[in-house]
Amino acid sequence: MSIQFYNSLSHRVEELAPINPGKIGMYTCGPTVYNFAHIGNFRCYAFEDILKRTLMASGLKVRHVMNLTDVDDKTIRGSQAEKLPLQEFTRKYKDAFFADIKTLRMVPANVYPAATETIPEMIQLIQTLFDKGIAYQAEDKSVYFSIEKWPAYGQLVKIDRDAMRVGVRIKMDEYAKDAMADFALWKAWDEADGDVWWDSPWGKGRPGWHIECSAMSSKYLGKTFDLHCGGVDNMFPHHEDEIAQSEAANGCKFVNLWMHCAHLMVEGQKMSKSLGNFYTLKDILAKGYSGREIRYVLIGTYYRQSLNFSFQALDEARGNLQRLDAFTSRLADVAKNGASGAVTAEQQAAFDAARDAFLAALQNDLNVSAGLGVLFDFLRDCNRELDGGKFTAEAARAAQAVLAKMDEILAVLEPDPSELQIPAEVQALADERQAARAAKDWAKADAMRKALDELGWVVKDTPKGPQLLKK
Ligand code: AMP
Ligand code: ZN
Repeated sequence: MSIQFYNSLSHRVEELAPINPGKIGMYTCGPTVYNFAHIGNFRCYAFEDILKRTLMASGLKVRHVMNLTDVDDKTIRGSQAEKLPLQEFTRKYKDAFFADIKTLRMVPANVYPAATETIPEMIQLIQTLFDKGIAYQAEDKSVYFSIEKWPAYGQLVKIDRDAMRVGVRIKMDEYAKDAMADFALWKAWDEADGDVWWDSPWGKGRPGWHIECSAMSSKYLGKTFDLHCGGVDNMFPHHEDEIAQSEAANGCKFVNLWMHCAHLMVEGQKMSKSLGNFYTLKDILAKGYSGREIRYVLIGTYYRQSLNFSFQALDEARGNLQRLDAFTSRLADVAKNGASGAVTAEQQAAFDAARDAFLAALQNDLNVSAGLGVLFDFLRDCNRELDGGKFTAEAARAAQAVLAKMDEILAVLEPDPSELQIPAEVQALADERQAARAAKDWAKADAMRKALDELGWVVKDTPKGPQLLKK
């Protein structure tokens, strides 16, 4: 078995080599809980979910830590605007986040540490950097990381050392590469922070964003761990600063494998809160799409390629999922009612090949498109055999097992409860159409079909009677 991923640190595809055989420690930067996450954020979490499920399906035991950034510049500003205590303000967005990841069928992390619950570990880490002479307290009382004192700075992104603004300080959490300077580890309290502060050896204040992830990851995964992920926008400064802080403090390698996913775009621009071009999950569910359909779109594009979000893509996902649903119910029918008889050697070989090819595609830097190609080839081949009456109940059950294995990673084969519900008015129209057909009133039957179409439903006549499908 070979598992290979592109490592943003080495810029190469590498064979996965767990630090502890059979186990993977995985840290993913979680949401900043100052607003509802948008589906751009969920593209990133969906990529991480596919990654984690691939590792698990490969027999590895994954310990996954995802932090919740519940104190930073944005959460403080938001809580003040709403005149709510910080904890109360962020609670609502934490709850919404957990509901959303459930809707999108993501395997929950083992731990979701909150930044506000990890302050002592952050202070400890800053103290170590301070004792080593790499951190210093400036006149503004804040504590900064001196990039001049850490020549290894710049491992993920190419740094122009001449452009380094030595001795210049940047207090903001987010900044561009050309504003690279000493960054804040501990931010001294000022009036804008209101009642948000903690005591520290450097006076009252709060942590910088980057130190949060350095402290939370090593608390739960150790000083050196296997895998760290996020979106490409996190590479600089966030991940670069995490590496600098952790390696400078701990004197050992921080993370072996870094993986970053490309952005979800809307009309050529990154979906983001600051551009205002974003949809939350709720926005899309309100338009009648299911969590499963949204998941299908989010996972369908290779993670290092940007994904252009559109409603057309959601409609295509619906069509693909309906094909899969028709296939799974056909298999279920034969598994239950089909004739008895052993799976042939050729069938078994084809099933094994499909299952292995699917996993191999995912193990090859998460090539989901190739994996879906294997799945749809499998569907076509099985349908051909089913058409020819070559599937016994046992063969159908063996094919179901192959699908179940693939779905351990995809998690899209089970319809959402909302997808199975047919609204009463739609059912009434379908019944009227059926009655009109029985009375050979074709004009009326056609009118009913049109009315259903306008409500977004199509009716398909099958040997078992009419079946209603969402368009
Ligand atoms: P934030 O809450 O802004 O810190 O973002 C949480 C995660 O979502 C980070 O890993 C970001 O890199 C990622 N992210 C933000 N916007 C997008 C986007 N448009 N497409 C993909 N990932 C994104
Ligand atoms: Zn982080």
